[in-house]
Amino acid sequence: MDAAALILGFTQVEDAVAVTSSKVLEEARDREARYRVLAAQEGGSIKVMEPEPVYVEKAREAARKLGEIELSEADISVLALALQASKLGWDTCILTSDYSIQNLASKLGLKVKPILHQGIREVITWEVYCGACGWVGYDKPGNPCPRCGHKLRRRPRRD
Ligand SMILES: [Zn+2]
Repeated sequence: MDAAALILGFTQVEDAVAVTSSKVLEEARDREARYRVLAAQEGGSIKVMEPEPVYVEKAREAARKLGEIELSEADISVLALALQASKLGWDTCILTSDYSIQNLASKLGLKVKPILHQGIREVITWEVYCGACGWVGYDKPGNPCPRCGHKLRRRPRRD
């Protein structure tokens, strides 16, 4: 996840581990986002990892070759982490709003889920749902599903 993904609150990803780097956390200065990140970390839904230097170098080199000179250290760390996770055999997907990251990721053979820039100005409405039986309604994530007892989760509502 890049900083925009954190600020937008994409800290709970369905059946996945959300990963970011400390450089991205620094970039996500927005107080609300930082609070959300901390809350999510407590819930164990976001993992802060540092990319190994070899992957940072790979990402930098690819950026140089493509002429993507606008990328920040945080952006590079997102790409490096994705490379590293892929090498570990993880099914990896980058959450980003940054076109340069998307561009570079596709060159590196990494999957990307783009977040629209305009999304930043929108308020995300969350809905609470049950991944087991499909129940959707008003409840708190983490509570047991009223229908089947499975742990409830949340996701952005699609209108
Ligand atoms: Zn259920």
